Amino acid sequence: MNINTKNEYIKEVTIREIEAKSLLRKQKKIESWFLTSYGMNLYRGCRHNCVYCDGRAEKYQVDGEFGEDVVVKVNAIELLQKELDPKRKRTPFKKGYVGVGGGVGDSYQPIEKKYELTRKTLQLLYEKSFPVHILTKSTLIRRDIDILKQINKKTRAIVSFSFSSVDDEISAIFEPGVPPPSKRLETIKMLKEEGISCGMYLMPVIPFITDTREKMEETVRKACDADIDFIIFGGMTLKEGRQKDYFMNVLNNHFPELTVDYYTIYRGDKWGSATGDYYNSINLMFNTIAKTYKMPMRIPLSLFKDILSKNDLVVVLLEHIDYLLKLQGKKSPYGYAAYSISQIKTPLSGLEYHLREIRGVGSFTEKIIKEILKTGTSSYYESLSGF
Ligand code: SF4
Repeated sequence: MNINTKNEYIKEVTIREIEAKSLLRKQKKIESWFLTSYGMNLYRGCRHNCVYCDGRAEKYQVDGEFGEDVVVKVNAIELLQKELDPKRKRTPFKKGYVGVGGGVGDSYQPIEKKYELTRKTLQLLYEKSFPVHILTKSTLIRRDIDILKQINKKTRAIVSFSFSSVDDEISAIFEPGVPPPSKRLETIKMLKEEGISCGMYLMPVIPFITDTREKMEETVRKACDADIDFIIFGGMTLKEGRQKDYFMNVLNNHFPELTVDYYTIYRGDKWGSATGDYYNSINLMFNTIAKTYKMPMRIPLSLFKDILSKNDLVVVLLEHIDYLLKLQGKKSPYGYAAYSISQIKTPLSGLEYHLREIRGVGSFTEKIIKEILKTGTSSYYESLSGF
């Protein structure tokens, strides 16, 4: 392994200001990994320049050189003011968290210091009484603890940080523009002391580097020490083209001995996925470690039970059940049922005698749905997620 300074990949930033046409993105269905119904990107492109970032893939059409060029939506607040105005909407806003930050640009990347679009967005979401879920890698979020506390008191805020491990040296190679994991963990402790729930998105783990039992266990242990509320886990994808080329170049510089192993698990899948066997093995390992440390592997029910509509609560819990079963290497019909329900506009409470007519809903799923509608939870879900 060859570790050079992190400045190796930090480049001059080019900023382009644009007037966006729209900002708030309504999701087709509740996003059960984040519990968001709406999302937004205030910036396109990301100065954090993570080597594995899939925002670099051609699919996302981020113009310019990823990691160097950043587009700033300078009219974002003006647009949001309009888009969040209930008088302009024919249908009411969907319940759920509003996601701030996205896959093509961290909302707390360094230019946020100058533009303060994220801070102003949070102020607006507070005034309009929306719950907020932020995903970032930056400690700059400390600046906004005051407004996050206000949101948390009024409607609830979750702050999540993404990590590929808690190893500062490895992070310096693969996340060159980001504060080291040790600083992110310190920030989490600060937020937790202020009563704000925090999650870790341990994704992606980097194959053969941060996906080892030792590294993952160290990460989960430190997450426990920081009092993190949950860890969402995921493996890495490498899409053919810019993303894979960039990543493999850095890998060859620092870990040339791993090149062959990468070509063994990344075989040109159109989504950039590694082999199913590889994902199964890391999922099983993470499942074992998380259970040992009693770490929730999905966002805990207490953080969304009172925020979602009943239909979305059913969708999310079925998807969580689906995930937890698959993590154990088992088959599950619940994801399909969840998707079918997400397409239904009628409240499920009015369909009590017709649940079996919904695609994918068998007798056991029907029982789960009825229990959720009646009690707000599912004993089957609790038995899978409990320790
Ligand atoms: S912080 Fe997120 S969006 Fe930014 S480069 Fe890293 S992975 Fe991509």
